Amino acid sequence: MSSPFWLHASPQLRELVSYEPGKPIEDLARELGIPPEKIVKLASNENPLGPSPKAIAAMRAALNRAQLYPDGGGYYLREAIAQKFGLARENVILGNGSNEIIEFLGHAFLRPGDEVVTSEHAFAVYHLMAQLFGARTVEVPELPGFVQDLDATLAAITPRTRQVYITNPNNPTGTIVSAGDIERFMDRVPDGVTVVFDEAYHEFLDDAPDTLRYVREGRNAIVLRTFSKIQGLASLRIGYGMAPAELIDILQKTRQPFNVNGLAQAGALAGLADTEHQARTKAVTEEGRTLLHNAFEKMGLESVPSFANFVLVNVGDGRRVFEDLLKKGIIVRAMNSYKLPAWVRVSVGTPEENRRFLDALAAVLPPLAAAI
Ligand SMILES: *Cc1c(COP(=O)(O)O)cnc(C)c1O
Repeated sequence: MSSPFWLHASPQLRELVSYEPGKPIEDLARELGIPPEKIVKLASNENPLGPSPKAIAAMRAALNRAQLYPDGGGYYLREAIAQKFGLARENVILGNGSNEIIEFLGHAFLRPGDEVVTSEHAFAVYHLMAQLFGARTVEVPELPGFVQDLDATLAAITPRTRQVYITNPNNPTGTIVSAGDIERFMDRVPDGVTVVFDEAYHEFLDDAPDTLRYVREGRNAIVLRTFSKIQGLASLRIGYGMAPAELIDILQKTRQPFNVNGLAQAGALAGLADTEHQARTKAVTEEGRTLLHNAFEKMGLESVPSFANFVLVNVGDGRRVFEDLLKKGIIVRAMNSYKLPAWVRVSVGTPEENRRFLDALAAVLPPLAAAI
């Protein structure tokens, strides 16, 4: 690393290990020499039903205006989001995926030596973005059952702490924190620490804690949501953050002028209103999740009770099972990079995809577990 290229590179980049995404369908199709349609991808918690038909129609129409720069201020979508949640447009920021807003938070608030507190098995992007800005990630062990420990999180806060991530439900564990735990935490967290509620899977919950109250109360908190999961628009890269107007103002200064493209804005706006598609997705998810949990139990496999659209399951050797499943055209997520080498995470698919996954899993596991 003494090359001229590294000479002036930001020193924190030396330690930064790039995000390892779910394996793309096209990659596996190429490797196996089979058509992409034959592959089942249950690796990135995408919507098995696809986008809302209304979103697709809106995006088709928006294609005819693709020569124009998009509305960089995202007026209509921010307005619609604000209305839906009883906020003002000034409380909403759009991101190229909610991941981008995690980066905005880094641009705005993180300097070398600062600290970001997350739970031990948290979404990888928090650590990645902290590292990008030279901040240290403090990982707090979970309670039994992989539940984020908010008392220990509070205890981990120091004068260097700038951000705390509360992910509800959490990825990759699928666990939730209770409204009571959140309330107790918010009563005690210092004002200078930004509390980031990452709620990428919020819409899958029946009875979600009301974290938007902290936005209304003007607390140092931001709620992140996305169109990538229940809305089925992951490829479009669009998410949003809701926070007090002053905090949104600061974040707006950190973004590129046209960070969210016009197709994404059109699709998201139409999708947001399609509550029927969301309800259908939630129902399919719940049914599939129950099927997976029951099948794992019958196979003698430990799984973490999930509140999201994926399940974390202990298969003994996650990497091996991941690779054996690949040979059968099934993509799940190995959990080595999440320090869970015995586990894989599988997204809930359509009934047919779930069945194909379970059959393949039974075939690659040792005989005892395969006896379903
Ligand atoms: C999927 C996911 C996101 C959403 O990312 P996008 O950039 O909006 O696609 C954010 N946080 C967590 C924990 C996730 O699992």
